[in-house]
Order: sequence, then structure tokens, then C-alpha cells
Amino acid sequence: MTHTAPLIDPFARAISYLRVSVTDRCDFRCVYCMAENMTFLPKADLLSLEELDRVCSAFVRMGVEKLRITGGEPLVRKGIMTFFRAMQRHLNSGALKELTLTTNGSQLGKYASELAECGVRRINVSLDTLDPQKFADITRWGRLPQVLEGIAAAKAAGLRVKINAVALRGFNEAEQFSLTEWCARHDHDLTWIEVMPMGDLGNEDRLDQYWSLKDLRARYAERFTLTDLAERSGGPARYVRIEETGQKIGFITPLTHNFCESCNRVRLTCTGELYMCLGQEDMADLRAPLRAEASDTALEQAIRNAIARKPKGHDFDYSRSGVVGQMTRHMSHTGG
Ligand code: SAM
Ligand code: SF4
Repeated sequence: MTHTAPLIDPFARAISYLRVSVTDRCDFRCVYCMAENMTFLPKADLLSLEELDRVCSAFVRMGVEKLRITGGEPLVRKGIMTFFRAMQRHLNSGALKELTLTTNGSQLGKYASELAECGVRRINVSLDTLDPQKFADITRWGRLPQVLEGIAAAKAAGLRVKINAVALRGFNEAEQFSLTEWCARHDHDLTWIEVMPMGDLGNEDRLDQYWSLKDLRARYAERFTLTDLAERSGGPARYVRIEETGQKIGFITPLTHNFCESCNRVRLTCTGELYMCLGQEDMADLRAPLRAEASDTALEQAIRNAIARKPKGHDFDYSRSGVVGQMTRHMSHTGG
């Protein structure tokens, strides 16, 4: 593969990380993410597996080294293993350093070993509670035992598992330590995510669900000795080590802290819209140039034009009386 000039945005940030939503569909209906009666996009609007391959490969040519596959639920996309298998060629060539995914875990029992065969080494699994009834309530359609079996299958296949838990006031506050201990016992990393003002705040009031990670961290600090880790991923996560257990805990606080200065990522939706910032409406359509011609010339130009417009940062802010900078798109659309 011929490499082209790397993608550098107007603020001198190199774009090395692409998150790709491969479907807007999901077998769960998490209350903070989707409405129960979601209307999904017509299939023809989605990028085909071949188009996904073309666009991801173009980004890899332009210097993207990390690819995270997400959704919706990526593992419910028909034929998705064909795509993972195809991406393996970029791992083999050394151009791509990491191929990974974020999943709700429901299909891992089926796919974990195949993912490992494709070169996936680490995965993120979203899990907010270990209580079967609460799990059913928050995901509406999910079943906890199936997810726990999936996580066990991933571990057995040699995949490193990071658990992502959305911090929700009055929902999983009481499980902060039991979830932490469970992760320690199974050797999973744990990251807490602050709930974001995505989707339509009208139905479920996300401000009511907002549990500040500052508070969560303070509760850890009451019980344990915490050491801040310098480690950064170019994203919103910060890490601490619990000295008593050696466990690493992550905090994703897109609202409390500004992390934009080190942002190295862009997001592609399943319809081929490229979002340069999670917190801004501006996007570039890559589907038209993909479909316009068989060569990737127009596609590459469209990607470069988009990166040249990457904004400095987002405008989320909970600190005022209401939510400003609130986005109207759902996480399942941009891919969390
Ligand atoms: N279905 C996969 C999953 O659940 O891991 C991948 C897509 S999901 C949209 C990606 C992540 O976004 C999940 O960890 C989920 O908990 C998180 N998420 C969804 N809605 C959110 C919200 N309103 N605030 C914060 N995180 C959210
Ligand atoms: Fe599905 Fe993930 Fe959204 Fe839950 S958070 S509804 S699992 S896409």
C-alpha cells in the first residue's frame, strides 16, 4: 500500500485514530442511548462492507493507526467478520497498529475467537451493572447472563477486556465498589463514563441521571490510595491506580474536563458521515465521493478537506442552569 501525506488538522493535531460505526442497529435499547421504538436507517443508506473497507483503508493510507469498530452494536451487522478479516491485512502490513471494537458483549460468545484470529487484542465491553434485573431495566432488551458468558468467551480467546460503565445517579452508584472488585477478580480494566447530553433529552432527563465522576473519584479516594497516571490516549480518558489492588481505573469526563487539545480522532457514521468532533454538528459526507467513482481520489480529497475543518473543541457544558451544546444525534449514530 502506498502511504500518502498524514492527516494534520489546523491545530497541528495528527489524526491517527478513526472510530467507525458499522450499523445503527442494536439488540439492546439502553435507556440513555436509544428510544425503545427506534426507527433505523434504510439499509441502502448504510455503507456496504466493501465501502467500509475502502474508507478505512484510505484512512490507514493517510496515517490512521488505530481503528475502533462500534455502532449501534457492531457485532449485529451482517457479515461483519468479513470486514474484520479484511482489516487484518493492514495489521499484517504494520500500517495499522490496533484493530479493536466497542461492544455490548451479547454476541461475544459467538465471535470472540474469530475476533482474536483477526488480530483483535483488546476490546471494550459496556456493562453498567451486575444485577440481572437492573441490567434488564437499563438495556430494556438485554440479558446479563448472555453478556457475562460473552465476556468469559473473550477472556478465554485471549482478548483483553476493558469494562465501560456509564455512571448513572441512583442507578449504579451503590455498585461502584462491587463492580470494581468484580473487574479486579476477572482482571478486567474498568472505565467510568459520564453520561452525555446526547439524543433527545425530552424523554429521559439525562440531567437527572448525571453522576459526576468527581464524586465517584472522591468515593474511591475515601477507601483507597489513588495515584494519578500520566497515561493519556489522546482522548477524554484519565486514569488512576488503586495502590491497594494495583487496579487501573479510567474516567471519561467529556463534560467536566476539556481534553480537546490532544484530540487525535475522528468518527465515521454508518452512512459515511465523518464527524470531526463529537460535540459539533459539522460533518463531511464521504458516501457521495465513495459512490461517485471506483477510484479513491475523490474520497481522499474529501477526507483531507474535512480534516482541514476539524474544530478546536466542543461546547458541552453542564455547569450552567441547563445543558448547552447539547447534540441532537444519538450515540448509536456517531458511535460512542
Ligand atoms: N453497542 C456498543 C456498546 O454498547 O458498547 C457500542 C456502541 S455504544 C453507543 C458505545 C458506548 O456509548 C457504550 O459504552 C455506551 O454505554 C455509551 N453511551 C451511549 N449513550 C451514552 C450517553 N448518553 N452518555 C454516555 N455514554 C453513552
Ligand atoms: Fe445498543 Fe450500545 Fe446503545 Fe446500548 S449503548 S443501546 S448496547 S448501541
